[in-house]
Amino acid sequence: MTYYPLTEATAAAHLATIPVIGAVLGGTPADWTVREVGDGNLNLVFLVSGPEGGVAAKQALPYVRLVGESWPLPLSRAYYERLALADQARLAPDRVPALLHHDDDMALTIMEFLTPHRTLRGALVEGLRYPHLADHLAQFLADTLFRTSDLAVPVATKKARIAAYLGNVAMCRITEDLIFDEPYFDAPMNAHSVGLDDIVAAFRSDIPLRLAAQGMKARFLAAPEALLHGDLHTGSVMVTAHDSKVIDPEFAFYGPIGFDVGMILGNLWIAALAEPGLRPDGPSDGWLLAQADRLWAGFADRFAAHWRGLDPKIESGSLHALARRDSALLEAAITTRLDQIWRDALGFAGCEIIRRILGLAHVADFESIADVERRAGCERQALLFARDILVRRDALTDIGPVHRLLDPACVAP
Ligand code: ADP
Ligand code: MG
Repeated sequence: MTYYPLTEATAAAHLATIPVIGAVLGGTPADWTVREVGDGNLNLVFLVSGPEGGVAAKQALPYVRLVGESWPLPLSRAYYERLALADQARLAPDRVPALLHHDDDMALTIMEFLTPHRTLRGALVEGLRYPHLADHLAQFLADTLFRTSDLAVPVATKKARIAAYLGNVAMCRITEDLIFDEPYFDAPMNAHSVGLDDIVAAFRSDIPLRLAAQGMKARFLAAPEALLHGDLHTGSVMVTAHDSKVIDPEFAFYGPIGFDVGMILGNLWIAALAEPGLRPDGPSDGWLLAQADRLWAGFADRFAAHWRGLDPKIESGSLHALARRDSALLEAAITTRLDQIWRDALGFAGCEIIRRILGLAHVADFESIADVERRAGCERQALLFARDILVRRDALTDIGPVHRLLDPACVAP
C-alpha cells in the first residue's frame, strides 16, 4: 500500500479493508460515523464509531500540521509511536489505549477509542479535578521507566531496545531545537505575550540560564537510561473521573528518566501558575500542587519498590548487580538514583515551562487567560519560577522547597 492521507470522506472505506477493525466497529461502513479531531500539532486523528464500538485512527502527515508543508517531518514517527504503544501496553497496560492495528506504509495507527475521556489540559483549564490522576501518572512513569532501564533489563536486551528507537531522530530534533535552543535566541517562530520584552531580552543574555538549558540538552542527547514517552505534557493525557490514559508517544526514544518526570511536573506547575489568571476570584485550593507532590512521591515510592522487588535469582538488569547482596548499598543506590532523577526532572521542567511561554508551541493554560496584562503577569511569574528551578536545581533537593517558591503565585498577580 502506498501512502495517501485519509480524509473524513475516505477513512471508512479504508478501515473497511482491515477485518479486525471492521469487527470492532460492527455493521458496514455505511453505519459508521467518522470525525477528524486532530487538535494536536502534527497528525490526523479520526474518531470512528460503529454499531458495536469505536476506534481512533491516527495518521501521520509528511509535514508538521501546525506549520504546513514548508516543514517536512518523516512519516516514520508513526512507526515509533506504535512501537512505543506496544511496549507501554506491556509495561503499564492500564495506562495506554490498546493498539488494535498498524500499517507502517500508511503511517496509520489504530487504537482503542478512549471515551468518555477528554484531554487533561483542557479539563485543568476549566478547573476540573481528578482524584486518581497523580497515582495513575506515577504508575505510568515508574512502570515504563524502571522496567526499561538497566536496573530491570539485561544489557544486551537494553542495547537492542535503544537501537530499535535510535532512528526517531527527527522527533528528538524537534525537542532539541524547540525546548533547549530556540527560547534563548530570536528564533523566527518564537512568540511571546505583550509586556514580556524585558524578561525575554534578559533571558537571552543570561549566561547561567543558557548554560543550564544547554546542560539539560546534553543530558537529553546522551543518557539512554530508559524508554521515554518523550512528550508527556497534559495534552498527552486523557482522563475520566476513574481513569487516566497516556496517548501520543511519537517522540519515544531511550533518554534520561527525569525528562518524562520533569515534563509532566512542569505542565502541572504551568496549570498551577495559570490558575490565578484563569480564576482571579477563586483563590487556589492548592490541588494542583498537591497533585505534583503526590505524583513525585508516588513515582519515587513505586520506582524504589520495583527495585527492591527484583528477584536476584532471575537475571535482572545489569545495574542491579551493584546492590543485589547488600541491603545498605541497595538503599543508598535507590536514594542516589532518585536524587539524580529529581535534579534532572527539575531542570527539564524549567526548560519546558520557559519554552511554552517564549517558544513556538504555547499552551491553552496561559492562552485562555483573556486579560492580556493578567496573562503576562502569570507568564512572568512562571518564567522566574522556571529559571529558578533550572539554574538552582542542585540546591532544591526536594519538592517542598520548590512549592514554597510558588506560594506567591497562588495569589492573583
Ligand atoms: P498529535 O500527535 O497530532 O498531537 P494526538 O495523539 O495528541 O495527536 O491526538 C490528537 C487528539 O486526538 C487528542 O488530543 C485527542 O483529543 C484525540 N485522540 C487521540 N487519540 C485518541 C484516542 N485513542 N481516543 C480518543 N481520542 C483520541
Ligand atoms: Mg503528538
